[in-house]
Amino acid sequence: MTSWIEISEERLAANYRAIAQTAGAQTAVLAVVKANAYGHGIELCSTILTRAGAPWLGVTSAAEGARARRALAEAGFAPANQPAILVMCGFLPQDVEAIAERALTPVVWTPEQIGWLQGSGLAVHVEIDTGMARQGVHPGEELDDLLDELAAAGLTLNGIFTHFCEAEAAHSELTQTQQRRFEAAVKQVLARGLAPKWVHAGSSSSVDNPAQSSPWLVNLANSVDARAMVRCGCALYGYCVPITGADAASMQPKLCPALRPVMTWKTRVLSLRDLAAGETAGYNATLTAPALMRLAMLPVGYADGLRRELSGSDARPGGWVILRSHDGSAHRAAIVGRVTMNLTMVDVTAIPGVCIGDEVIVLGDGITADDHARLAATIPYEILCAVRAG
Ligand SMILES: *Cc1c(COP(=O)(O)O)cnc(C)c1O
Repeated sequence: MTSWIEISEERLAANYRAIAQTAGAQTAVLAVVKANAYGHGIELCSTILTRAGAPWLGVTSAAEGARARRALAEAGFAPANQPAILVMCGFLPQDVEAIAERALTPVVWTPEQIGWLQGSGLAVHVEIDTGMARQGVHPGEELDDLLDELAAAGLTLNGIFTHFCEAEAAHSELTQTQQRRFEAAVKQVLARGLAPKWVHAGSSSSVDNPAQSSPWLVNLANSVDARAMVRCGCALYGYCVPITGADAASMQPKLCPALRPVMTWKTRVLSLRDLAAGETAGYNATLTAPALMRLAMLPVGYADGLRRELSGSDARPGGWVILRSHDGSAHRAAIVGRVTMNLTMVDVTAIPGVCIGDEVIVLGDGITADDHARLAATIPYEILCAVRAG
């Protein structure tokens, strides 16, 4: 094993509690464990989050839902004590059997999907497209037709929801427009005498954003006697994106300061090498040793999800890793030269006593997914789900 990840159960559970507390007692929290729990491992995370009290888990696919169910059963949760599981990112006819067998709840928004589920007697959630234009049915005639087909197919409407395009934006006009459209959809459902149990909208940023009001969602859910719910992923794992918008600088994020990163990605020093002043290292010789320099080689690279943008050169500093010296103190070691497919060099010149086999933190406390994301010009989400330890 060239690298591995360690998951802090305590932090994951504490992050869940912080989200639930910030969201408020009237809003349930669906724990998003899609994409293998954002790279953290769906089996372990589903179990921890179920123990923490999550009433719902959100997965990518039927196959992922089956993985979560299996893990929960193995952890000793009887079916009645397991959370409901929402299949968030669509399904195909060949998935219906697994959906029914594993008691998953599919998200539906097209007549085709309803056709595939006909006769299954399943409860479903209908997604409303209020502006994201990714999944979802439009309020109005399209929704009315879909609800007709749902009834004809003998399916139960257990939930109705939408997804915001920019939940992190303070006082977003787009979010307000989406809210109005979602209200219209909920009214339509009410007008037909349907009684979904869940009305959900929003993500981690909706809980974090001080400009987004949770009474809006609670009031809307109350109007149909349903329970309000928000769907959180990133925050569970300890990350938020910054609040944006004109007055963002003057606003305090509500949730972010309470969160701590859950994943630590570790490897070990594979070998050591000294460079004399003037020697170069790595592809394209982007590093020249200014003086005698000691490099440690690490068995991780971009094939493992360590972004190539973290390369450091003479022209530009890159990322870094954390090494502990033998007195226990933590030191930064800069990534030098190009990050390659499976190997990366770091500068340990100033760190006393580094040995082959020493543990190294590639991502975790001291070098977070936010740091990686900033250097790679992306978002922490992409960094986390790309980590491929093993
Ligand atoms: C991924 C996802 C979420 C979770 O978003 P975070 O920003 O990670 O909290 C919520 N809802 C939907 C529909 C999603 O696809």
